[in-house]
Amino acid sequence: MDDESTIMSGESDEEYEMAVPKRKTSKSKRNMRRAHDGVTPVNAQSCTNCGEPVRSHHACVHCGTYKDRQI
Ligand SMILES: [Zn+2]
Repeated sequence: MDDESTIMSGESDEEYEMAVPKRKTSKSKRNMRRAHDGVTPVNAQSCTNCGEPVRSHHACVHCGTYKDRQI
């Protein structure tokens, strides 16, 4: 038991306090932080075959064509 107590009494005697925010984040500050959270919609182009909105450099999900070729 003596051995264990000597091991434990190293630097662990110091009392650590967890880092805690000093003040509540106001609605304004919270919203200001979240101002950049929005996602921008993907650039959509219409399919040349069927006219459905398609992501550029992607085959059409609707009809499965890419650059006027069936895939
Ligand atoms: Zn299509």
